[in-house]
Amino acid sequence: MGSSGERSKISRLLAVGKEFFSGGLTLFLLRLCGRKLVRTGGCRCCGACCECINLRVGGRWLNSPEQFERVCRDHPDYQRFTVSGIDDQGLVQLSCTSLQDDGRCGDYENRPAICKSFPTTSLVLCGGVLPPGCGFAITSAVPFAKRLRTAHRRNARKKDPSA
Ligand code: SF4
Ligand code: SF4
Repeated sequence: MGSSGERSKISRLLAVGKEFFSGGLTLFLLRLCGRKLVRTGGCRCCGACCECINLRVGGRWLNSPEQFERVCRDHPDYQRFTVSGIDDQGLVQLSCTSLQDDGRCGDYENRPAICKSFPTTSLVLCGGVLPPGCGFAITSAVPFAKRLRTAHRRNARKKDPSA
């Protein structure tokens, strides 16, 4: 019978596998339908995402305060975050000390890269969800270039039905 350390390693591997396969399958199905994930909307400056941060470093989600402490040594940018708990998925949840009472960022110019790019479309591929009330949405859509090509072909057929 394995130790609890081995069991937690196995459950982490299973979680990574599940994430990889469900994300990969989603991408595959979207490509099959000629669609891709797109981000729409805009930030309402509610600050909700600054209080429920999960970090992924080196391809792995952080799942313990100790891991987070180690990561902070190499990424001083992350020292503004503090551990607020462990979420339902077993990942370490962080909140940010730069968040102001009005929901705005108190260090906007120097905010870390993950803040600048949030939310990326890959969020949904790894089972993530946007915070309630977020002004962004991530949906699937037919890429503009593809719609343009289809419209060109349709117009060409109208002009020359034999084409
Ligand atoms: S640095 Fe600013 S944008 Fe990033 S989590 Fe903190 S308050 Fe939010
Ligand atoms: S949760 Fe969404 S709307 Fe609110 S601050 Fe973050 S990105 Fe902006």
